Amino acid sequence: MQPEVTRQNFDQWMVPTYAPASFVPVRAEGSTLWDQQGNRYIDFAGGIAVNALGHAHPDLQQALQQQAARLWHTGNGYTNEPILRLAKQLIDATFADRVFFCNSGAEANEAALKLARKAAHDVVGEQKSGIVAFKNAFHGRTLFTVSAGGQPAYSQDFAPLPGGIQHAVYNDLASAAALINDQTCAVIVEPILGEGGVIPAEPAFLRGLRELCDKHQALLIFDEVQSGVGRTGSLYAYMHYGVTPDVLTSAKALGGGFPIGAMLTTEKWGSVLGPGTHGTTYGGNPLAGAVGGKVFSLINRPDMLAGVALRHQWFMDGLNDINQRLQVFSDIRGLGLLIGCVLKEDYSGKAKWFNQAAAREGLMILIAGASVVRFAPSLIISEQEVKEGLVRFEKACRAVMRGSGL
Ligand SMILES: *Cc1c(COP(=O)(O)O)cnc(C)c1O
Repeated sequence: MQPEVTRQNFDQWMVPTYAPASFVPVRAEGSTLWDQQGNRYIDFAGGIAVNALGHAHPDLQQALQQQAARLWHTGNGYTNEPILRLAKQLIDATFADRVFFCNSGAEANEAALKLARKAAHDVVGEQKSGIVAFKNAFHGRTLFTVSAGGQPAYSQDFAPLPGGIQHAVYNDLASAAALINDQTCAVIVEPILGEGGVIPAEPAFLRGLRELCDKHQALLIFDEVQSGVGRTGSLYAYMHYGVTPDVLTSAKALGGGFPIGAMLTTEKWGSVLGPGTHGTTYGGNPLAGAVGGKVFSLINRPDMLAGVALRHQWFMDGLNDINQRLQVFSDIRGLGLLIGCVLKEDYSGKAKWFNQAAAREGLMILIAGASVVRFAPSLIISEQEVKEGLVRFEKACRAVMRGSGL
């Protein structure tokens, strides 16, 4: 007999790193989800930009089940067919010639930063070790990646932190130029600041970083953990901007809900990580390869990417209508299906209230910092689900405005 479990058990048994919603989801289909009590929710959160094909997609179920009946794990002493196929798909579709697989976004960034350090040390020497990152950026929770991230609140309690990392101001090329020099081995940047408030990069900012990296022989790393795999309406956001990095990290949507991360790079830089220099037990396992391969083949299609642009418009139209009536947002921004609503002064710091009010209306949303409401739904969310979700969202906004907050 399995024990009965409830939301209260979380507070008793789990290390309290999270404060999850008051309900416990048990089942989902498409962008609709049910909790233990059978209440129904519309999903505008998409598992934080992960469930790009919604929940329980039949083709993904099939890919996972077929692989589950064949081969789960062999370790890195052996390769396997599903992961090789996914590597080829990624290489054919992007600038990359080489792929390293791991299990999460943080691990992909960890690999990218280690690659950059080793490449610089191999060619120039240990003095070339500087990493330039950005304030309010998010790159994961390992000590190296959380230090590269630009939110001291997430890293300061874990000092001493890895050294050699400096933070410039996002979308401020001059502030980056002031920090990038011949001792810099890498610049790491999100093409859209995700957790940091859903702020798309200015095209000139990314172009300028590319030039600075070329000038100082530093690797340009794009963290596309959130912006990748169709999220912006391009396969990867770098394609939207027309600026090609040396290293790109992908995770989240790449597995559609199955854990997988990948670091993509060129022949030249990939060769730096020779046998024994880096690794992870589960990275590139057949289950992740099978699911990732199916996700990738479904998303890397013109009709799928065009569908993201269409849905972007549904959201923008609906959110602008709501804002006309309620005057609650000062800006509605983002690319594709990564959308942020910036709360007006009166509601500044209260994004959490909107999140909790939405849950009470049967809608799952996200926040990005204290003052931005974020949506990262499935790339195939239906028009009906978008309409219904936006009705619920307006009700939630009205509830917050009435003052029935936390
Ligand atoms: C989520 C995220 C990460 C971390 O990914 P994990 O899988 O949680 O380790 C890194 N970078 C960006 C931009 C992210 O959005």
